[in-house]
Amino acid sequence: MNVLVVNCGSSSLKYQLLDMTTETELAKGLFEKIGDQDAIFTHKRPNADKLERIEPILNHKEALRILLDILVDAEYGVIKSMDEIDAVGHRVVHGGEKFADSVLITPAVMEALEECCALAPLHNPPNIQGIEACQAIMPNVPQVGVFDTAFHQTMPKEAYMYALPYEYYEDYGIRRYGFHGTSHKYVAQRCAELMGKHMSDLRIITCHLGNGSSVSAIKGGRSIDTTMGFTPLSGLIMGTRTGDIDPAIVPFLMEKTGMTYEEIDRVMNKESGVLGISGVSNDFRVIEEAAANGNKRAQLALNMFHYKVRRVIGAFAAVMGGVDAIVFTAGIGENDDIIRSRIIEHFDYLDTTLDQKANKMHGEERIISTPESKVKVICIPTNEELAICRDTVEIVTKKMVEDTVKDVLGNN
Ligand code: AMP
Repeated sequence: MNVLVVNCGSSSLKYQLLDMTTETELAKGLFEKIGDQDAIFTHKRPNADKLERIEPILNHKEALRILLDILVDAEYGVIKSMDEIDAVGHRVVHGGEKFADSVLITPAVMEALEECCALAPLHNPPNIQGIEACQAIMPNVPQVGVFDTAFHQTMPKEAYMYALPYEYYEDYGIRRYGFHGTSHKYVAQRCAELMGKHMSDLRIITCHLGNGSSVSAIKGGRSIDTTMGFTPLSGLIMGTRTGDIDPAIVPFLMEKTGMTYEEIDRVMNKESGVLGISGVSNDFRVIEEAAANGNKRAQLALNMFHYKVRRVIGAFAAVMGGVDAIVFTAGIGENDDIIRSRIIEHFDYLDTTLDQKANKMHGEERIISTPESKVKVICIPTNEELAICRDTVEIVTKKMVEDTVKDVLGNN
C-alpha cells in the first residue's frame, strides 16, 4: 500500500510518499511560498538528483496537481499512475476535544474540523484546504486526518484545566491541549520496543526539542501531561517563542509600550525564546558557537533552556511517581550532545547516568545512558510521516474490512 502524507501550512505544503509494505520512502518534497509568483518546489527521491523549480503557484490545489504530475513523471516520478496512491494521510494541527485518535475523513469530520478552526485559526484552515484539494483531485482515494493534539486527549482534567472561570472552558474550549502528539507517541512506542518492554509497563518522559519544543509525561502508554497548552506558545523556552510567562506581562507591556495585541503576539511568537535572549539566532548551533566565543547572552539563553527542561523532567518524574526512560528527539534532541549532557548531568538523584561516549553522536537511534543507569536515556529520531502513514494504513484497512463484511452480509 502506498500512502501519501500531506502537511499543509499557510503558504507551504510538505509531502512524503511511502511504500507501506516495506515502510520505505519513495519520494518527499516541499512547496514554499505558495500564492507567490516565485514559489519554490523541491522534490527528492532516495539516491537520485533532487529537482528544484521556481514558478508561480496559485494555491494548495495547484501545488497538489504539480505534485501528482511529478510523482508519475517519466524522469522524476516514482509511480506509474495516480492509481498507485492508495490513501492520503493529512497532518492536522488541532483536533480540539473532538478527536482523540486519527480518523477517516467524512463530511461529518470536515464539519467538526471547521469547528476546530476557532482554536487554531492559523494552522487548521490550511490543513483543511489541503484535504479539500486532495478530495477534489483524488475523489476516490481515502483520506485520513492525524492530529497533533490527539495523543494528549488522555490527560486528566487536573492537568489540562486552567484556573480561569469554568465557563471559559465550557463556552470557548479554553484548556490545555498539547501538541507534537504524533512525535511523542511515536518515540514513546519506539522507546518501549528498544527496551524490550510494553508501553503499559513504562513511565517515559519524551523531550521533543526542536525549533518548537515540548516535553511529555507518558505513563502506561498514555500522555498524562505535556508542556504545551491552549496553543504551542506555552511551556518551554523555544527558538523564537517565549514558553510560559506571567500572563500579566501582556497588559503591562501593552500599557508601557503602546504595542497592540497583534504586535505583542508577534513578539511572543517570533522574537522571543533563545533568539530574544541571545540576540544572535534561534539556531542552537549558532548560539553555542557564540557562547563558546564568550557571548554572555548566548550562554544565558542556553542555560535557561537546560534549566527549564530539567525543571520539567523533575516535575514529570514527580507526577508519574518515578521515571523509567527519558527520550530525546527532534532537531536539538537528536543532534545536540552538549544540550543532552547539560540536561542529564543533574539527574544523579534519579539514578540516571549518561554514557558520555555514547552521547557523542548526531541523529542516531541509541541508548546513551550507562548500562548501570536505572533510568534509560535514549535518543530516537522522530518520524512523524511514518507515524501518520501507520495510522492511515490501520484506518483504511479497517474500513476495507468493514465494507467487505457489509457487502457479504448485504448479499445474504
Ligand atoms: P526541528 O524544529 O526539529 O527541525 O529542529 C530545528 C532546530 O534544531 C534548529 O533550529 C537547530 O536549533 C537545531 N539543530 C539542528 N541540528 C543541530 C545540531 N547538529 N546541533 C545543534 N542543534 C541542531
